[in-house]
Amino acid sequence: MKTKNKKADKSTDKNKKDLLSHRQALNINIKAFRLIGSRYPQMIVSRLICSVWEAITPYVGVYISALLIEELSTSRAPKMPVSLAAASLIFAALISVGTALLTKWRDTVCAGMYFKVENIFTDKLLEMDYIDIDNSAVYEKLSTIRQSQNGGGWGLYRVIGSAESVISALASLAGGVSLTLSLFLSPVPEGAGKLTVLNSPFASVGVVVLMLAVTYFAPLLANKAGSYFARGADTHNLGNRLFGYFGGLGYKSELAADMRIYRQDHICDRYNNDKNGIFGSHGMFAMLARGPMGMYAAASAAVSVVFTGIVYAFVCLKAWAGAFGVGAVTQYIASVTMLSGSVSKLISTVGDMRNNASFLSLVFDFLEIPGKMQMGTHKTDVSDGFEIEFRNVSFKYPGSEDFVLKNVDLKLHSGSRMALVGRNGSGKTTFIKLLCRLYDPTEGEILLNGRDIKEYGYREYMDIFSVVFQDFSLFAATLGENVGSGKPYDGEKVGDCLQRAGFGGRLKTLPDGNETYLYKDISKDGVDVSGGEAQKIALARALYKDAPFIVLDEPTAALDPIAEAEIYENFNSIIKDKTAVYISHRLSSCRFCDDIMVFSDGQVVQRGSHEELLKKSDGLYRELWDAQAQYYSDAAEASNISEASESAVTADGGETCFANG
Ligand code: ADP
Repeated sequence: MKTKNKKADKSTDKNKKDLLSHRQALNINIKAFRLIGSRYPQMIVSRLICSVWEAITPYVGVYISALLIEELSTSRAPKMPVSLAAASLIFAALISVGTALLTKWRDTVCAGMYFKVENIFTDKLLEMDYIDIDNSAVYEKLSTIRQSQNGGGWGLYRVIGSAESVISALASLAGGVSLTLSLFLSPVPEGAGKLTVLNSPFASVGVVVLMLAVTYFAPLLANKAGSYFARGADTHNLGNRLFGYFGGLGYKSELAADMRIYRQDHICDRYNNDKNGIFGSHGMFAMLARGPMGMYAAASAAVSVVFTGIVYAFVCLKAWAGAFGVGAVTQYIASVTMLSGSVSKLISTVGDMRNNASFLSLVFDFLEIPGKMQMGTHKTDVSDGFEIEFRNVSFKYPGSEDFVLKNVDLKLHSGSRMALVGRNGSGKTTFIKLLCRLYDPTEGEILLNGRDIKEYGYREYMDIFSVVFQDFSLFAATLGENVGSGKPYDGEKVGDCLQRAGFGGRLKTLPDGNETYLYKDISKDGVDVSGGEAQKIALARALYKDAPFIVLDEPTAALDPIAEAEIYENFNSIIKDKTAVYISHRLSSCRFCDDIMVFSDGQVVQRGSHEELLKKSDGLYRELWDAQAQYYSDAAEASNISEASESAVTADGGETCFANG
């Protein structure tokens, strides 16, 4: 057993979360409390008032009961017990009414409290620089916070419980002290013989010190047991991650076929049922529970019993010696026990706050990630057209050593139709992300009408663009909300945009039209849309925004050939007079663009119209075009399709695709 415990100790040490000093722990708890309090003051006030109420009201019952028992045992005035019983009932009723009113108020104000606290993270994510959202270190930080929160309940939300415990312990302490004080002040009569020693101030101080020592050690030992959990938080989190991922695989219908074919259920078994797993019977936490963690918890419980013994002995001896009657005995026993409970609670809460402090510092590490993007205040005025210039722009992704864009120098003019072509990974999407300022250039600058885009208001600048990214996503909200980006939306305009994006036919079949929910997450009547339909809805959303500059990254990748052909045929009426940049692997679909930029290895290596670029026989565009034509003619020969009008393959010679001419 000993070696096992040592092993367990070592393994927790490896995962150890360093405890902060008491002062640091207090400061960070206060900071977290202030943060929640400033956002949800009513919630905090209601919880604290309820805690105080619940802590002090039991003393009223203790006090009146003690008076009643005293009267009954002495029968000095026969009418008194009746009055006291009535008073006891009235107070109990008043306390119940007060408790009901207060808890109702608290529950109403605090409805959805967990999610309200979660909103603090959501708001941070929404206001954070895009570059940080995309940063794996930031993602890892948030993921650790979530794991600690879901696994051990550590983090921001726990601060509310700690504050309640502290305030209720202090209130209870005050109530307990006021009812217990007379225990030490009531003297034993002189005729009590040796027991008069109880009158000595040393006896009282000795008993208080003894009680405090015991009260101090019980929660200390309990905290020591709890600290094993906190120190093993990383392992615990990993266990939760594995459990969360592998435990839920059976529910994922998209994996069901592969699971059966490759017997992947064995992988799940390994993580969920293995006795050596993190939560298994031979796992780290089981070993800790059988070892030091269990011992400390047991010692804490044992020490509490010693406390009860001391209190009973002291109170009963004084009563026996004649210091007070039987009513007072019940009062002291009850109040001292509650008093000790509150001291224990205070100490264990302080310990818990210290354990939680290292998780809170993680939370603040995340919440205080500074915004690094320069936000200007200049207004964008593009009503009379605009020119965007990339001036010697180079870019590296955060954490990467390689430039993915190198010395890009070009101008984009309003009203034009531009296409970006090039092999996979040549930097086209990155170029778009810089264009609409999701990232700032690592070197060089981007200018709008001659002014660095950093000098414009960030939101305003972004409002110039409607973008359909390749990896766009739709919400499990209504179709109208998806297209109109929230409520209220203009139903007619939504319908028009969906029509232009080629979704008109499908819209007519939807039972609730614009009010039809997408997917089944929110409504069981929600509709599932195919990849192609989703792409049309995303295009409609971009049209609804009605921004002057529309960017489409592979806008037809998920469409069937006929839908794709429709989009190209109607491209001009779809985007109307807007400036458009369009990324495609299918070169033939770029022919309607008057300005084609060819990307290679992060640089714009060619620029011109389709005809101009084709003429350069040693150019990359020509090479890509020929590769497509070659592939097409081989494929056509092989399948004897003679009458096909046009076709294309991906620019990097990948999949065969249809493209209209
Ligand atoms: P394209 O759109 O031409 O296919 P991208 O702009 O998507 O090319 O990618 C250009 C290069 O940047 C690729 O090598 C890609 O792996 C890399 N890249 C893209 N996104 C990231 C990212 N978030 N972090 C690091 N590298 C990235």
